[in-house]
Amino acid sequence: MKITDVKTFLMHVGAPDPQRYATDGGFGAGRFSGNITGTRNWLFVKVYTDEGVTGIGECSGWPRVIETAVQDLKALLIGEDPQHIERLWQKMMTAIMGHGMTGTVGAGALTGLDMALWDIKGKVLGVPVWSLLGGQVRDRVRIYAHANTPEAALSLKARGIKALKCGGVSDPVRRVAALREAVGDDIDLMIDLHGPPWLTPADAVTLARALEPYRLLFIEDPIAPENLDGYRRIRDAAHVPLAAGERMTTIFGLRDLIERELVDVVQPDTGRAGGLTQMKKIAAMAEAHHIMMAPHSGSLGPVAEYAALHLMAAIPNALFLERVEDDWEGRARTVIPHPVSEDGFLRVPDAPGLGVDIDEAFVARFPSQANVSVPITRDSGSYVEGTFDEHVYVQTRLRQARYFGPR
Ligand SMILES: [Mg+2]
Repeated sequence: MKITDVKTFLMHVGAPDPQRYATDGGFGAGRFSGNITGTRNWLFVKVYTDEGVTGIGECSGWPRVIETAVQDLKALLIGEDPQHIERLWQKMMTAIMGHGMTGTVGAGALTGLDMALWDIKGKVLGVPVWSLLGGQVRDRVRIYAHANTPEAALSLKARGIKALKCGGVSDPVRRVAALREAVGDDIDLMIDLHGPPWLTPADAVTLARALEPYRLLFIEDPIAPENLDGYRRIRDAAHVPLAAGERMTTIFGLRDLIERELVDVVQPDTGRAGGLTQMKKIAAMAEAHHIMMAPHSGSLGPVAEYAALHLMAAIPNALFLERVEDDWEGRARTVIPHPVSEDGFLRVPDAPGLGVDIDEAFVARFPSQANVSVPITRDSGSYVEGTFDEHVYVQTRLRQARYFGPR
């Protein structure tokens, strides 16, 4: 069997309800045609073979740029036997090495192509991808959902969701307190503090200590991802589990986070961490350090969600999978079939390969229009100290009461 072609399918995707998405910033403020808001894109790739078998994959990271990266890598795959996944991954990785360290663009391209190769292999052998990854540890995967208000949290709890995440650095203690008060003690709560603006380690320590009484399952991205020494400071000073890793790629990018045991939960993104080939290895690295996996998928499309289900079926240290329940209404029509959660779980697919395909005609109805998240511009339209509008990556925290509430 030989690879004959690679095609990309890029689409502009709407944003979920802000009450149901754990961030202050959303998916950017742009308004586009067709009732699409935000700058979220999904990129799917298809790998074709001379025997008529095709594989589907998804790339996150910076989809509009990754589309070009995938087209560049295509020349390395044409004529190759798709069953040699590891060799092809190594071939692509060494080809892009000259462009510098592998970030989300390179790894995003590797991810979608790698995912499609696993899909082809499963279809050829007539087995689901989870079988190729070692077989099932579980036949359904627990999910956690996003909720930023007590109302959203209660409606999700009523549907059987057992873990909820809120987000943002605006008044996080009061937000968590309100959610804990609403849902009680039998629901796991988490908070994602991601910036920008990012907290400094000192402020993150203060905040983590203030959150200790609420018994969170974890605090996610308390500080900027490259500040690993800052993670050490927070761990040494506060008794709250930490989670991070959604912006990191490959075993090399996640190595320090795991080997230095800076987190309790590692969150590689199924669409940009380097593919199932890498995710399986990252899971094993984490397992050796008694660290759990909770793959990031807050902005991901439904093909990557399928890939995550196969991975999480097969790894022992799967905590749960992120899911935006009540996502943009077009999500369910983008893939066939579309998974529906039941009582807080997603069932692991049984069909050969990944068990999913995109509806190409539906995807084509939503051409990409922009893909860079534009900070919400408030009244001044420019510099507003200590807010998103300041537009700087590392900020001094001003007006701390805004973050920590009154004493
Ligand atoms: Mg996050």
